[in-house]
Amino acid sequence: MNLVVLGAPGSGKGTQAAILSQRFDIKHVSSGDLLRDSVAREDELGKEIEGIIATGKLVPDILVLRLVREAILEEGGGKWDGWILDGYPRTAEQAEALEEVLSSARVVIDAVIFLDVDSDEVVTRLSSRRICSSCQSVYNTLNHPPKHEGKCDKCGGELVQRSDDQPETIRRRLKVYNEETVPVLDFYELRYDVYRVDGSKPIADITDEIAGLVGL
Ligand SMILES: [Zn+2]
Repeated sequence: MNLVVLGAPGSGKGTQAAILSQRFDIKHVSSGDLLRDSVAREDELGKEIEGIIATGKLVPDILVLRLVREAILEEGGGKWDGWILDGYPRTAEQAEALEEVLSSARVVIDAVIFLDVDSDEVVTRLSSRRICSSCQSVYNTLNHPPKHEGKCDKCGGELVQRSDDQPETIRRRLKVYNEETVPVLDFYELRYDVYRVDGSKPIADITDEIAGLVGL
C-alpha cells in the first residue's frame, strides 16, 4: 500500500503517518526526517544540504526528490508493505516530478489522503505548542501540558514558543500552504483516489477512518 498524506502544518499528518506506519508496517517517508537524517550522515549530499539550510535558503526540489526517491524505491529487505509519504509533494511541480520518478520505476500511488483542518483550529493548535529550550521535547498547553507550567517534565528546562508558532506567522504559512496545495490536490484527483478526512477529530478516530477508506 503506497500512500501520500497531504495537510497543512498542524493538521496532524506527521502523527497519522507515524501511527499508520507502525500499525500496518508501511514505511514512513517524511521529507523533513530525510533532510535531517541526510545532514546527520555528513555524506556529500548531507553537507551540501546543511550548507543550503545554514544560509537560510530552501533546499532545492531536485535534492529533496533525490532523497524521497531513494527512500521510496529502497527495498528494505521486505520489511515494509509499502510507504506513506509525508511532507512531499508540496507543489504541483513537485507532484509532477514525483510522478515521473514513480512511473519510470513502475510504482503506483494507491491513495492520497488530505487531512482537512480549519485555519483557526491550526492557529489554536500550533500557538499552544511549547518546546523545551534544552532537550527539545514538545508540549502543548491544550492537550499535553507540562506538570509544572513553563518547565520541562524531563529535564526541568525552560519551555519556549518557537517564532514559527506565533499566530501571525502561522496564518502566513497556512496561506502559502493553501495556495500551493490546491493544485496538488487537483493534480492527484485526475489520477488517484483522493480522500478528504476531517482532521479536527480525535487522533484515533482519524487513523481508523483512513484505514477504512484506503482498505488497510
Ligand atoms: Zn527538556
